[in-house]
Amino acid sequence: MSEPRWPPTCPSGRHRLLPGELLVGWHPCDCTPEILGHRTWTCVRCLAAGRIDTWFDPPCLDSSVIR
Ligand SMILES: [Zn+2]
Ligand SMILES: [Zn+2]
Repeated sequence: MSEPRWPPTCPSGRHRLLPGELLVGWHPCDCTPEILGHRTWTCVRCLAAGRIDTWFDPPCLDSSVIR
């Protein structure tokens, strides 16, 4: 088992991420045949500020999913 990569900074909020500031989820997707989905990260600090920022690991290849 490998640990998921932990982004050192929030890409939208431009602040450092501390352990516990990310919600880790799962987004089923067909663009990754090997794993059938993406791990998702949501910054709780930005979420509390009213800005939902979720990003995908690995990045989604389906451009219709991400803006
Ligand atoms: Zn943030
Ligand atoms: Zn995808």
